[in-house]
Amino acid sequence: MKFLKFRKKKTVRKAKKPSQIIASLPDGAFSGELITAFSYDLDLDGATADGSVVITEDGVFAFEGGSPVRSVLLSDADEFEYHPLVGACEMCAETKDGPVVICRSSCTNAETMAKGVRRLTRFRETGKNVEADGDSSRVCPKCGRRLRPGMTSCIKCANRASLVKRVLKLGLPYKKWIIISVILFFAGFAVSLLGPYVNRLLVDGYIDNEAARSSVLGGDGGAVFRGFLLTVLLMAALGLSTYLFRSLRNLSVMEASCGLIVDLRRLVFDKIEKMSVKTLSRRTSGELMRTVTWDTAQIERFITTDVPNLIQQTLLLVAVTVIICLKDPILALLIIVPVPLGFIVGVKVGSKFRRMYDKQWRAGSFSGSVLHDIFSGIRVVKAYRTEKKEEARYDDAIVKERDIEMKNETVFNLIDPILSFVLNLGTVLLLLYSGFKIISGAMTLGEVMMYTSYAGLLYGPLGWMTRLPRMLSRTITSLVKIFDIIDETEDIPDAEAAREVAVRGEVEFDNVSFGYDEGIDVLKGVSLKVKPGEMVGIVGKSGAGKSTMINLLMRLYDPGGGSIRIDGVDLRDLSQHSLRSQMGVVLQETFLFHGTVYDNIAYASPGASREAVITAAKAAGAHKFIVKLTDGYDTVIGERGHTLSGGERQRVAIARALLHDPKILILDEATSSLDTETEHDIQETLARLTEDRTTFAIAHRLSTLRNATFLIVLDKGKLVESGTHEELMRQGGIYHGLVMAQRQMSRIAPAKQN
Ligand code: ADP
Repeated sequence: MKFLKFRKKKTVRKAKKPSQIIASLPDGAFSGELITAFSYDLDLDGATADGSVVITEDGVFAFEGGSPVRSVLLSDADEFEYHPLVGACEMCAETKDGPVVICRSSCTNAETMAKGVRRLTRFRETGKNVEADGDSSRVCPKCGRRLRPGMTSCIKCANRASLVKRVLKLGLPYKKWIIISVILFFAGFAVSLLGPYVNRLLVDGYIDNEAARSSVLGGDGGAVFRGFLLTVLLMAALGLSTYLFRSLRNLSVMEASCGLIVDLRRLVFDKIEKMSVKTLSRRTSGELMRTVTWDTAQIERFITTDVPNLIQQTLLLVAVTVIICLKDPILALLIIVPVPLGFIVGVKVGSKFRRMYDKQWRAGSFSGSVLHDIFSGIRVVKAYRTEKKEEARYDDAIVKERDIEMKNETVFNLIDPILSFVLNLGTVLLLLYSGFKIISGAMTLGEVMMYTSYAGLLYGPLGWMTRLPRMLSRTITSLVKIFDIIDETEDIPDAEAAREVAVRGEVEFDNVSFGYDEGIDVLKGVSLKVKPGEMVGIVGKSGAGKSTMINLLMRLYDPGGGSIRIDGVDLRDLSQHSLRSQMGVVLQETFLFHGTVYDNIAYASPGASREAVITAAKAAGAHKFIVKLTDGYDTVIGERGHTLSGGERQRVAIARALLHDPKILILDEATSSLDTETEHDIQETLARLTEDRTTFAIAHRLSTLRNATFLIVLDKGKLVESGTHEELMRQGGIYHGLVMAQRQMSRIAPAKQN
């Protein structure tokens, strides 16, 4: 019964606001205009501390227990940095005398610390004291609780009434069918009420009626017999119409639900598709899939079934109550008395249910994510024979989900009888009252039976209402998830007057800085100018920021500082459609969609003619192997192109890019998954692809960049070298080192093979 105990409210420690921190410090403890302030909870030896950092336009000041412990003037530091550690984080300054740790903290303050550093860096770069992007997105502004990863709204604080109002609006296009279904319900109900009456007529009028029987047996009962037959026929007709009304009602519900579920899925899916990569990567694919499939189904059920039920049951409740009230008001009162009590219990358990279903939802989406993960990597699973391990992983996830669901259902099934009993207390009161009345001779047995059957009619809707808290909790959980996606603000929006530009292909990176996480820049002040038709090779060690540059160029993310311009127009002023329609990519891992080879080539150019597709395939060197496939261009490629080799997949990707005919081309390790021979073949095709296009190419094997007009070298996010291969070799810097290392490797590899 442990789970029946209602959880005590957790005390959530809210982060101190900068104003609270400043108020707790003595006057004159620091100098300069305030930029921001944050708390920290560890001293430099790792012991607990009550610390705070104040960042001003003069410097950074750390205090512990209100006393100053360290400070670094802005003029003394080259850079301030945020460092994530294992289970902790720290703020450091790079000073002329070496690095200085300003403060350390547990992860509780990681976000505010990173935000503070980011804000300080921005201030130093731009002279402006502005909030960093997405600062307050991970904590509920109302209750201060951490939001679930990827969510922007809090399940606990969501305004349920407004959510329900909004979702009902989604059902408006189907209101006709919903109203029809309610009318048909009452029509069916009215017909079923007639049943007992006709039944009584049949028994009392013909079967259990001596006079009727003798008139039929005496041979003069033709009229009576016809009456009897008619009554039987009426009964049959009533039965048939009950079924008919029920079927028609089901059909109208189906009409509404089938339309609505498609609308809802379309709405959520469209929004997900519009989300930026940054927003998407905060959610798991399991969560997204669950919202598109499960949550939309919950909402559809709520609108098409629960809401009509609520109307029906409420109307029934009111109607029967009125009837009983008219017959005997005291009795009605006795029957109704427990209803408010049941209502209060229902509201109390409702919030418990909400928490329970949120937990169940998360367990469900986690098992979905595990499944998706395993299926996506099924080849690795098979290759390493880790089926048993994955089986155990999935098993763990579904057992956890089952356990939570069982616990939830147990709680519900323990609370449900109590709730039902409370509501049915009226029957006991009714029996008590009517019992006394019979004994005193004030009521007949027939009247008691009538009242009991009325009370029975009343408890149908009341019983349904006991399930209302659970149903509402489930719905609210799904509603919060759905509207969390629908309300997600676009972080890479098109500018209001976004321009559609026919791109020539001049690209300029102007002092571009960018970090995926607050305070950690992975690109630092990168500047670069590429003329139309030039090919630039991006070189650097793994993690140097090469793919990040490409991500920014494709505007999957916006730079944190500086700007990227195409033909002199800032990317943020270009419409994303215009930008991406003139950009082509060939990546290391080519994703081929389920469909024919033809569809895969024409993927980015759906209007292309068959001739154009074949010409592109020929130019990409793909035509020869395609015509040898079972159905040629109409061969259906298995998921992720399993039926094609790496080289063939890459050729399909090149044909796709050629057909798309982009002005700017991105080759991100396009040939690195291929063997040297295939790579050599594909290089020639790539050379054809890059002709007359501005090309950005990242390649691990530096020899593949021989066609590049010039090369740039990135190191820890900074552009450190640029020039042609010969110039960079002469410089003897990082590029020279990388080339020499690769030459060494290629000498060792054949030697080893021998
Ligand atoms: P490269 O392409 O040169 O190997 P990347 O541009 O992929 O390097 O990565 C640069 C840095 O950014 C690395 O430290 C990497 O861990 C980090 N990084 C890359 N993608 C993300 C992401 N989506 N979220 C957080 N950090 C990322």
